[in-house]
Amino acid sequence: MYSQNAISSRSRGRAEPTEEMISGLVCIVCRADYRNAPDSDAIVVAHHNDHQMLACRGVCARMASGSAAGLDETPLPLAERMRRHGTDRS
Ligand SMILES: [Zn+2]
Repeated sequence: MYSQNAISSRSRGRAEPTEEMISGLVCIVCRADYRNAPDSDAIVVAHHNDHQMLACRGVCARMASGSAAGLDETPLPLAERMRRHGTDRS
């Protein structure tokens, strides 16, 4: 019984988040790159360890978090996310 569970959570689950997703640089749903679209309305929809994971407000956010408005949390500015992305693995 539990083997079925293990299978569905393992191989059926979505792919591991990429570094860009964890750094909040891309939408975790459609993978729009916010570095190329700084005006995108990215909102916090999840966390990975201490990092905010972002998605576009609306459809993407609803797919990621169940709410089109995501979590009630302000994302870090893009510049700060990029800076952390570059300096994270010291
Ligand atoms: Zn998106």
